[in-house]
Amino acid sequence: MRIEVLTIFPEMFDSPIKSSLLGKARDAGILEINVTDIRDFATDKHRTVDDTPFGGGAGMVMKAEPIDRALEKIAEGLENPRILLTSASGRKFDQKMANELSREESIIIICGRYKGVDERVLELHPIEEVSIGDYVLSGGEVAALTMIEAVARLIPGYMGKIEAGENDAFAWGILGFPNYTHPQEYKGLKVPDVLVSGHHAKIDSFRRRSALKKTLQNRPELLEKIELSDTDKKFLEEIKNENK
Ligand code: SAH
Repeated sequence: MRIEVLTIFPEMFDSPIKSSLLGKARDAGILEINVTDIRDFATDKHRTVDDTPFGGGAGMVMKAEPIDRALEKIAEGLENPRILLTSASGRKFDQKMANELSREESIIIICGRYKGVDERVLELHPIEEVSIGDYVLSGGEVAALTMIEAVARLIPGYMGKIEAGENDAFAWGILGFPNYTHPQEYKGLKVPDVLVSGHHAKIDSFRRRSALKKTLQNRPELLEKIELSDTDKKFLEEIKNENK
């Protein structure tokens, strides 16, 4: 997969894309990430990328021209890239969208800054606005990195056996189950017996029940969106009774 990022702060990507699994995936050739400075596509000697808003008001707006020129240049070498623009007013990014994007050959992510970008950029290119959540960041760089991390771990071959994505939160449509590692007892707190029993069916059942419990506590609305088995329903009944 190839990911092209357009930003006025390319240095914000330096260490994140070199570290950890993202760095390894790049070294292994599974993922190519290129970062382009939008200022390189400005047309004046001051490399201006922003200007005052028509209609007045505080703040600056990212000019259409440098972004348009950068997009034209980058899209040249790509076949049907998905073009995303980070925006607090975009479609909400979630695991489903991460899955969908992980199947793309190429993705371009434009990072907004200031009050956002001149709206005409959206008319010139098939751009999808994407938000990572209902809060406002100062720029799209962290949002882009968030999406890159979520998408990259779904690319086949990215994680190998070290970390299996099938156990992730949301893989089942609900939250993840709790994990424990050595020592078996810490400050008087023991790892649940079932996890050291070696009984795989019981372990699976414990994990499913724990995941359901966490979902009921933290994100109950998710339970309405998935198909619950009879065992799930029984677990949830028990959990609700424990809480009474
Ligand atoms: N005035 C704008 C906020 C601009 S914040 C508004 O009310 O929507 C500056 C930039 O940060 C935005 O252009 C966008 O690219 C990025 N950004 C802010 N919040 C974001 C979010 N929740 N998800 C993705 N990008 C976001």
